[in-house]
Amino acid sequence: MSQTPFQIQRAAVIGAGTMGRGIVMCLANAGVPVQWVDNNAQMLEQALAAVTETYAHTVRQGRIDQAEADVRIARVTAAVDYPAISEVDLVIEAVYENLELKQKIFRELDSLLKPEAILASNTSALDIDAIAAVTGRPQQVLGLHFFSPAHIMKLLEIVRGAQTAPAVLKVAKELGQRMGKVSVVAGNCHGFIGNRMLNTYVLEARKMLLEGAYPYQVDAALQGFGFAMGPFRMYDVVGIDLGWRARELAGVGQDEAEVQVDNRLCELGRFGQKSGNGYYHYEAGSRQAEHDVEVDALVLRVSEELGYQRREIGPEEILERCLLALVNEGAKILQEGIAESAHDIDLVYLNGYGFPADKGGPMAWADQQGLADIQTRLLRLEAEQGELWKPARLISALAAQGGRFANVQVA
Ligand code: NAD
Repeated sequence: MSQTPFQIQRAAVIGAGTMGRGIVMCLANAGVPVQWVDNNAQMLEQALAAVTETYAHTVRQGRIDQAEADVRIARVTAAVDYPAISEVDLVIEAVYENLELKQKIFRELDSLLKPEAILASNTSALDIDAIAAVTGRPQQVLGLHFFSPAHIMKLLEIVRGAQTAPAVLKVAKELGQRMGKVSVVAGNCHGFIGNRMLNTYVLEARKMLLEGAYPYQVDAALQGFGFAMGPFRMYDVVGIDLGWRARELAGVGQDEAEVQVDNRLCELGRFGQKSGNGYYHYEAGSRQAEHDVEVDALVLRVSEELGYQRREIGPEEILERCLLALVNEGAKILQEGIAESAHDIDLVYLNGYGFPADKGGPMAWADQQGLADIQTRLLRLEAEQGELWKPARLISALAAQGGRFANVQVA
């Protein structure tokens, strides 16, 4: 019997959207009974039907038998209000990405749940401490950041807030293990490990569209390196409209030059795979991304309207800028103690972002290049393109000693 007061025998999930569905299955698959709450009864009904269908598909594939599927489905109980969940040990919230909404829900949960219950948010980037602060139990609040589709993707970022108790992190790691996840503990900052690095990588990809590249060229270069998907194919899968709507809602970032191609695609209803068109074209019922010359014309128009002098951008430059952006941000994440090791950053990229396994992850790749070489290349980019490329302190320090990310010990 564990010494900790925290044990996850019963859980609840709030939100029956894309992520809630996958998270509920992760818990049910791990043998944890789940109370599922969404304030939209119709959404909940659709979500239960979708989960039942996913299990039926798994049975058809021969991966589990019908009896096992029935047991897993029976672990899930749905409700439209919170009182149904007052006895659970853990709640995972997966509602819209909005701080005020999440705070309202955490306040309500805090007043309702037993004192030892743990409260987790599946937020992609929001401040875990700001969410914890509205509760009377900040030591029992953390991020459990699943990746989509949550029942398939291996990665789980466990986000520790400033006050999250070690015993709570331990129980989260144990739960991750029960769910068959690769768990990585991340500190609290915008985007945690994975999405914070992704933002810098995507920024380079978007800048190159304006400077002279086309989406298919950027994706081809990165896929040629071994990424499962280039950034524009990835956004077609995720939905280009998610970022567009989030910027609109927050009233920030919509005027940045780098998002104008996304904005224009969304204004045309080209949201990605789900609408049959995005950065690519998709035939009805197909997930095959097809090159679309209309998108190239749109990219050309947007960059000309913004006054860019387009130039040829080859695969070497695409790789150099996207990979070095990842490495430099990864180094900052390590030097700030947001990640506990370079290996953890690599695990995030290998299991959550399709980084080629044979390259070992962005930090291992940088170590293979040699950090003195990485520093020289960053300095060259800084001289050409400015301050943004200034090498992280950790890179300069390691380069001077012939050191490697792999040997960095984070206190
Ligand atoms: P979604 O829009 O698919 O679903 C959100 C659900 O929350 C809806 O069913 C809605 O009815 C429900 N909801 C809203 N307010 C509620 C309330 N007060 N009480 C109960 N239910 C409520 O959203 P999603 O894509 O599943 O994202 C959920 C969270 O997960 C967000 O914080 C998002 O940033 C994060 N996330 C999303 C992804 C992704 O790829 N979609 C990946 C990782 C993390």
